[in-house]
Amino acid sequence: MSHKKPVPPQLAGAAPRPRCPVCGMATYSRSGTHPQCMQTSHDRLLRQAIKDAAVPPVSGA
Ligand SMILES: [Zn+2]
Repeated sequence: MSHKKPVPPQLAGAAPRPRCPVCGMATYSRSGTHPQCMQTSHDRLLRQAIKDAAVPPVSGA
């Protein structure tokens, strides 16, 4: 009785998983970016946009 052990996908020639552009880790996500990383980067952009759109305080009036 002989059973072969399964070969790891990395050694079996499977295509490497895409890397998340935000954190650099391998991802299973179809978009190639972790949902939580996408949320983090979106939050950062939104915070910057709010900061840029803020009206400066009026002084000397
Ligand atoms: Zn990520």
